[in-house]
Amino acid sequence: MKSVAVNGYGTIGKRVADAVSAQEDMKIIGVSKTKPDFEARMAVQKGYDLYISIPEREKLFEQAGIEISGTVDEMLEKADIVVDCTPEGIGARNLETYKKMGVKAIFQGGEKHDNIGLSFNSFANYSDSYGKDYARVVSCNTTGLTRTLKPIDDLCGIKKVRAVMVRRGGDPSQINKGPINAVVPNPPTVPSHHGPDLKTVMYGVDINTVALLVPTTLMHQHNLMVELENPVDVDEIKAKLNETPRVLLVKASEGIGSTAEIMEYAKELGRSRNDLFEIPVWEESLNVVDGELYYMQAVHQESDVVPENVDAIRAMLEMEEDNNKSIAKTNKAMGIL
Ligand code: NAP
Repeated sequence: MKSVAVNGYGTIGKRVADAVSAQEDMKIIGVSKTKPDFEARMAVQKGYDLYISIPEREKLFEQAGIEISGTVDEMLEKADIVVDCTPEGIGARNLETYKKMGVKAIFQGGEKHDNIGLSFNSFANYSDSYGKDYARVVSCNTTGLTRTLKPIDDLCGIKKVRAVMVRRGGDPSQINKGPINAVVPNPPTVPSHHGPDLKTVMYGVDINTVALLVPTTLMHQHNLMVELENPVDVDEIKAKLNETPRVLLVKASEGIGSTAEIMEYAKELGRSRNDLFEIPVWEESLNVVDGELYYMQAVHQESDVVPENVDAIRAMLEMEEDNNKSIAKTNKAMGIL
């Protein structure tokens, strides 16, 4: 049983903590917070040992009546690996601490690939992280692209990808993010960073992306145009995506015609936090025209990277050499379709 620490118990961290707790071969030894807010209180109520990232704030936690088990450094001493889920940019700063303390660490997509040196996706490059000390699970958008492009590449080869990424303005609880009433080219320069990020896990793929920010908090949405190496018909693509774990074909004709309805479907699945770990692809959008595949998909940004974090733990701690076996274990424990 391996011991996992989660540094940063926010949107991603609390989901990673629950996903790790659901596995048979690993356990959570602590989670961290900087503020004594409701999430800190609920972490303790759930049974997690809570550690504080800013030792000077011990008194604030005491005043709030939230029990702490120590500082982050004390948590790291007990861990085989830490999953860093702190806000963008802080993870890379924490790398020095992890090195000093001799603890392996997984970072999130908000950190730059170059600062960590290795990026991870369960399907594309699992073995590259086997036994490694530091890796970064690519962002929610890049994870979404990889989940569908990798099986397509395996099936018929990819010559070139163009993708238009429609990004949510913020997560549902982020009251200070926007836009409220605008479509924002984001970045306004072309291409966006998403294409280069995909290349950190799907090496050598030819991709260009453009991105827009829109007033929604539910999901990202991607529109893909993929020039194929070898001709296949659309039914072969459907069959391939259908058999791919963590990818779901959904039908607008069955009432799942928007990100709002996908989230309604996720609620019906009855999972904690209404998460959708899988990447839904609209079946009707799949079409091959003149050797080019078109399709549309969505990404539940708060949760799609969570199973990849669990697989990254298994790879880096050498708990499972075969990516498909790790994927199957993670999926079974989390009830992933
Ligand atoms: P978040 O919801 O803001 O949570 C961040 C957590 O880190 C909070 O628990 C916060 O604790 C803690 N924290 C803040 N400052 C800290 C510090 N200086 N030292 C240690 N801990 C600190 O962030 P998130 O959305 O989960 O994002 C985490 C990472 O995942 C980022 O790299 C992000 O880019 C990436 N990511 C996010 C999403 C998404 O859609 N949200 C999707 C994929 C990847 P307090 O609340 O107590 O301050």
